[in-house]
Amino acid sequence: MNYFLDNPDLVETFDKIVDWDKLVPVTQGAKADVKDTVATWREMLAVAGEYIGTEIAGRAKQVDELGVIRDGGRIETSEPMKENLRGLAELGFVGLSLPESFEGSGLPQTVNSLGVEMIARACAATMVEFGIGYTEPAAMIIRFGTDEQKRRWVPPVVRGERKGAVAMTEPQAGSDVGNIATTATKDGDGWRLTGRKQFISAGNGEFVIVLARAAEGSKGLDGLALFIVPRDGDNYIVERAEHKFPIRGSTTCSLVFEGSRAELLGEVGAGWREILTFMNESRIAIGLQGLGVGEAAYAKAMRYASERKQNGRPIREHPMIAEMLMDMETTIAGLRAIATEASTLQDLSTRGKDERAARDLRELTPLVKWYGSEEIVRVCRNTLQIYGGYGVVTEYDVERHMRDALILPIYEGTSQIQSLMAVRDLMRTILRSPGALVRGGPTRLLAKAGIGGDYAVARSTFVGALRAMVAALARKGGLDLVRGKRQPTEDEMAPFLLHAERITETLAHLHVARALGAQAARVPSRKPLAERAARRAKLVAIRNAAAMGAGDGGVFAKIAEWQQERARS
Ligand SMILES: Cc1cc2nc3c(=O)[nH]c(=O)nc-3n(C[C@H](O)[C@H](O)[C@H](O)COP(=O)(O)OP(=O)(O)OC[C@H]3O[C@@H](n4cnc5c(N)ncnc54)[C@H](O)[C@@H]3O)c2cc1C
Repeated sequence: MNYFLDNPDLVETFDKIVDWDKLVPVTQGAKADVKDTVATWREMLAVAGEYIGTEIAGRAKQVDELGVIRDGGRIETSEPMKENLRGLAELGFVGLSLPESFEGSGLPQTVNSLGVEMIARACAATMVEFGIGYTEPAAMIIRFGTDEQKRRWVPPVVRGERKGAVAMTEPQAGSDVGNIATTATKDGDGWRLTGRKQFISAGNGEFVIVLARAAEGSKGLDGLALFIVPRDGDNYIVERAEHKFPIRGSTTCSLVFEGSRAELLGEVGAGWREILTFMNESRIAIGLQGLGVGEAAYAKAMRYASERKQNGRPIREHPMIAEMLMDMETTIAGLRAIATEASTLQDLSTRGKDERAARDLRELTPLVKWYGSEEIVRVCRNTLQIYGGYGVVTEYDVERHMRDALILPIYEGTSQIQSLMAVRDLMRTILRSPGALVRGGPTRLLAKAGIGGDYAVARSTFVGALRAMVAALARKGGLDLVRGKRQPTEDEMAPFLLHAERITETLAHLHVARALGAQAARVPSRKPLAERAARRAKLVAIRNAAAMGAGDGGVFAKIAEWQQERARS
């Protein structure tokens, strides 16, 4: 199969949706010929689509079955995974969007994202090993390294000769990054690291970029810094690789640092700001991974449902199954719409220095991650259901997509953490400008006209629910709060934190409906998709508004009870 040319929605996104007239000059310079440039990129994606759809997809089952090789204490990826990584490096995929001065191709993130989606569709484990092991470490060194570090580290990574990793998580510091305890101390011209990192993807390579506490006595997110730590034999120990059920072919390692030699990457004290650039990029990448996994599952579900007959007709002609398939199609096209929009915003904000694009990207990032995780779990679950008994049989591959999908809501910031980010951002917007809740709002992007009446109902239902919550906040915290003169306390924010995932789910569906609506305005054949997304957004908004208006269900009383219990023990 060719994962580019055989995917009509992907091709239409490339041919008719992306605004190349805007993007090419920003990323390739004003003199670039838009038509020629875009034709070359299309050709490149078609060649890559053939390789990914045949070679990488062809090895995916083996990659999954072999998992990680643990041989005499050494932790290795399997041969088919190595073959995949070599192939992608040879195709130039590692450096696709990295600068040409470092052996990259300098292509827009928007083109890169279409490729990443195809890799994830073929093999989700390969996508992680490739993205976290090569592209991301190279991008971080280019962003924060000295000229000498860039020259020394980046080219071998881009050529696929040296694998890295990015290590933040520790046994006691997962979602709460400010709790990290790995310390870095100055030692002559260099640094020494001591601590332990947990769940590090691609952690069995030749180096790792580590977030550590570099200012003695610092707390929380202050005093952190990034370091490049070479493996150099046993400079750090790759203690073990987890046995896990999703993305089985990707190594998920525990790393131990005992006075390990390290070089500073960037500035002491700026570690949190620096790692955030990685986290924001990788959150979009997980949305793309979800898109690939969802596409793989949906394509199989559609084929199976058109062939499998029950009660004298293909099962897709039974209304409940038909509804599931249509819902999957809308979800995938919707995710592709917001992920592509986010990728374009990445290009406009980083290469075009467009501040409004940076603000819009900030709004979309947690939603792409949330929607690309939670909604794709649902797509895979429905695929399994459509396959009936065969769904749980390993031969049919759909159980692999289900297993792989279940990692999406967990890593690179769980769905709850994405929800907290989205809600805090939304609250900042509302408290800065409460009028947004009267004039259509709630954000600049969502205030744009959507398609049809359902989008308007979805948005007004959501705004109504928010208005009620903000009014309650004003009653409790006083007008100074809603006039933006002070920030709400954690206690005042409690109802928003309780309903954060409901708010995020509604926001995500509204953005999907908005984005597909905007596409339908350019490509009228996409109108049915946009209308379905708007209808779904309306149903989600109504359900969540009902839950948000129905009180706390005793949650806060229970938390108080548990707190008392903890105080007594
Ligand atoms: C396969 C895999 C690969 C990974 N790769 C990497 C990697 O390459 N580099 C790296 O640094 N890390 C990596 N991670 C770590 C991953 O990012 C963390 O597992 C994730 O951030 C969650 O942290 P935790 O597991 O400690 O869970 P916890 O933070 O303990 O969370 C447990 C539960 O509590 C919820 N929760 C936590 N805080 C709150 C809150 N304030 N409000 C509401 N709910 C909350 C969470 O949503 C979750 O449901 C990987 C993990 C896995 C499983």
